[in-house]
Amino acid sequence: MNKTDMKIFEEKESEVRSYCRSFPAVFTKAKGSTMWDEDGNEYIDFFAGAGALNYGHNDEKMKQALVDYIMSDGITHSLDMATSPKATFLTAFNQIILEPRGLNYKVMFPGPTGTNTVEAALKLARKVTGRTDIISFTNGFHGMTIGSLSVTGNAFKRKGAGIPLTNVVTMPYDNFLTDELDTLDYLEQFLTEGGSGVDIPAAVILETVQGEGGINAARTEWLQRLERLCKEHDILMIIDDVQAGIGRTGTFFSFEEAGLTPDIVCLSKSIGGYGLPLALTLFKPELDIWEPGEHNGTFRGNNHAFVTATVALENWKTPDFQDSIQRKAELVHHFLTAIVEKYPDLKGTVKGRGLMKGIRCEDCSLAGSVAAEAFKRGLIMETAGFDDEVFKLFPAVTIPEETLKAGLEIIEESVRAALG
Ligand code: PMP
Repeated sequence: MNKTDMKIFEEKESEVRSYCRSFPAVFTKAKGSTMWDEDGNEYIDFFAGAGALNYGHNDEKMKQALVDYIMSDGITHSLDMATSPKATFLTAFNQIILEPRGLNYKVMFPGPTGTNTVEAALKLARKVTGRTDIISFTNGFHGMTIGSLSVTGNAFKRKGAGIPLTNVVTMPYDNFLTDELDTLDYLEQFLTEGGSGVDIPAAVILETVQGEGGINAARTEWLQRLERLCKEHDILMIIDDVQAGIGRTGTFFSFEEAGLTPDIVCLSKSIGGYGLPLALTLFKPELDIWEPGEHNGTFRGNNHAFVTATVALENWKTPDFQDSIQRKAELVHHFLTAIVEKYPDLKGTVKGRGLMKGIRCEDCSLAGSVAAEAFKRGLIMETAGFDDEVFKLFPAVTIPEETLKAGLEIIEESVRAALG
């Protein structure tokens, strides 16, 4: 096989390309938590498609179901026509995920990706309440189209819009300022006493753990208080679980630990199970106010993704699946805590929840150096945060323990190398 001429990327692909710069190899094959490049080099995957591959690469059961479906000439594209894979998925989602958690949501397929579900959520919240403003949070990441970008708390990304992004009030996320200064004190005051000049918003949108923004985990009490404030003031709470959902924090939804019942939930990335594009917007039945066709899209619900997504949901039938994520999360937490203690020059802080973890380095460039050293040693790991100050551990939740431990060993070697 001829090797890929890398010039094609430089000559033809836009300058905006990003991950291929962090991981300079041409990848050909992947299985579970291992990836291979065309030179035959093997990598442990602690990136998991930025959270789109929580079940790893090429899961055997999902692959077989997909092959069987394709071989039977199962319909691929159908807009939002009724299909059997969609019915099977909806039934499984309701029975395995929603009902056991006491959640009653209507499900909408807003389009193929994460940004589509956020757009739908914002639009619906505005339509339902008749209000315009949305409260979002510093370092939040919600997508790259105009609506989702407008609630993304990252100045660099926002500049890419080329127009002012309006009707959004961005507030400090939990712990953004200091431990003593709680954003919600201010929010409560502005909601109850007015005088801020800001209209009562339609909704708040947030991640319970900010992924791209630096693995910032909001405290349980902070989330619960925010939910209470929203309820008191008739503001809709939108949880963007595109990255933190589908097992990443140790439970199917990231908000289960805090016992929240958001009005609207955004899901994408790993919901398709196999890395196939699928997005869901969940909302309380009373919010189901759009007329047929009032929000639509050509690629709403992909039948191949429904097939793999249904197989993926089977994992959640056994309590051991969730327990195994939590066991691995503890292992990672202990390891990272030990690294921070053992290497004081790293000036590191352990961040995150579940298998959504990272170390923030006081010297921002150090996080990038650790990730680059890790890549040289066969570990794929990205950085997060406004200044890329966090190296981010995002293994598949199905990663075997020995592979997880091997990846952690590479991280320690990489920290040592980066510190010189
Ligand atoms: N919300 C969150 C929390 C995300 O992390 C992302 C993607 N990183 C998105 C929305 C947007 O998803 P997509 O890239 O699929 O449009």
